Amino acid sequence: MIKKGITRQIVLHYFFVVFLALLLVEFIFMLAVQRYYYESIYNTINQRITATNDYKEPLSLVSGAEDGNNLSYLLVNLQLDNTELQILDLNGRVLASSTAFESERAVIQTSDITQAMNGSIGRWVGRQPNTGEQIMAVSHKLDLGGENTYIIRYLTSLEDVNSRLLVMGLLAILVGIAVLAIVLIISIGMANSIVKPINNITAVSEQMARGRLDVRVKGNYKHELGELASTLNFMAQEIVRSNQIKDDFISSISHELRTPLTSIKGWSETLDSGGYDPDETRIGMSIISKETERLIGLVEEMLDFSKLQQNQMKLVKGTVSIREIVQETMLNVWAKAEQKQIHLKLDADETKAYNVFGDGNRLKQVFLNIVDNAIKFSHENSWIYLSVKEEDGKVIAAVQDTGIGISEEHLSKVRDRFFQVNHQNGGTGLGLAITQQLVELHEGTISMQSELGSGTTVTVMLPALAEEDDLMKHDDQQAGPDIGTT
Ligand code: ADP
Repeated sequence: MIKKGITRQIVLHYFFVVFLALLLVEFIFMLAVQRYYYESIYNTINQRITATNDYKEPLSLVSGAEDGNNLSYLLVNLQLDNTELQILDLNGRVLASSTAFESERAVIQTSDITQAMNGSIGRWVGRQPNTGEQIMAVSHKLDLGGENTYIIRYLTSLEDVNSRLLVMGLLAILVGIAVLAIVLIISIGMANSIVKPINNITAVSEQMARGRLDVRVKGNYKHELGELASTLNFMAQEIVRSNQIKDDFISSISHELRTPLTSIKGWSETLDSGGYDPDETRIGMSIISKETERLIGLVEEMLDFSKLQQNQMKLVKGTVSIREIVQETMLNVWAKAEQKQIHLKLDADETKAYNVFGDGNRLKQVFLNIVDNAIKFSHENSWIYLSVKEEDGKVIAAVQDTGIGISEEHLSKVRDRFFQVNHQNGGTGLGLAITQQLVELHEGTISMQSELGSGTTVTVMLPALAEEDDLMKHDDQQAGPDIGTT
């Protein structure tokens, strides 16, 4: 017995369909064979009846003879092998018979007699009342002139044909059983070819669910099962990768937090011990302040990320000039760039504002992160080119550096959360993930082109604000509630 499941379902399904098809085919086949046999018997008798026309004249000659002679003559001349010939009068009374099978003078009223009386060749298949044997009777009217009109009736037993049909039927059933057995074997094999891989994949996924992410689905499965297996393997690989990324994040964030905290602790202890001149005290206080700011920056970055993850980032939107945002960003990072002797150059039409509808502070955050990365990953004494233009209803702002660049392998991952090419560089790996989500919240896109060793270009595209929109949105902004950034 096949246990419940896909195998049983497939096997039963196939079995049922093939069984029904076989039943139908065998039924039609048996019907056709039976018809063929019965028709050939009928045709043989029919031919004999048609041939009686040739005898009509010689028969007519003897029609004036003694009745008994006449009937014997007819019986002898119209006889057909393997049949009984009866001669009946027009009332269906048996006048003569080639065998003593049917009692003479009996009246026969089967449908073939009625059809024969009407002038056609009558056929009847039924059971002989006295023997119960199945027979076929074929009758025809024979008009020999005068009062000599008879019905000639041929009777033949169908038992022989029926037993042959029975043998054929049994053979057909045997063939059917053999076909069903083959179907059963094939369908079990087919079901197993689906179920076994599924069982294997289920076993592997159970292990994965228990935390064994090193196991993989083995075996070269085809089609959908192959896809399922490779998707599961890919999923495990991605979980391992993201776990690794999280571990790296924890280690780099711990490092990021420890450095300023150590510095703050060191300076506060030093200052606490007293005895320092005002200049030294000022330097210490400024370092404590800077490191605290750095810590606040880190915590804010993580808070922003968590808000974006939970869709809780609220934007205070209004008309924002991207040219102004980029210029402000350049001013903000100027000192940092100076330290590495990096020169910043902006290419934008001074007469245009390149307005978009967005949150000025968040858009500034976007460009600060991109330009900050550009400086961080640029060589000393190099150039960073910034540009703002408008094309096809979009404001396109690009930041191009000639720094270390990113390999093709890493380029697709740098916008993933926590991802960093090199963890020694500091940072959290969240900047670009936050940047991308902020740009998307402004219905914009961000793209990156980079070549390892040559530099990187980050392009931000935002929907441009047409001048009339500009005023309308501005009015809305004044009328609307101040949502505030949370
Ligand atoms: P973080 O700067 O805190 O590491 P980001 O998400 O901003 O995080 O950047 C992720 C990684 O992408 C960086 O660690 C760096 O490896 C790579 N990256 C980003 N911008 C650049 C750039 N302009 N040039 C080279 N590498 C870059």
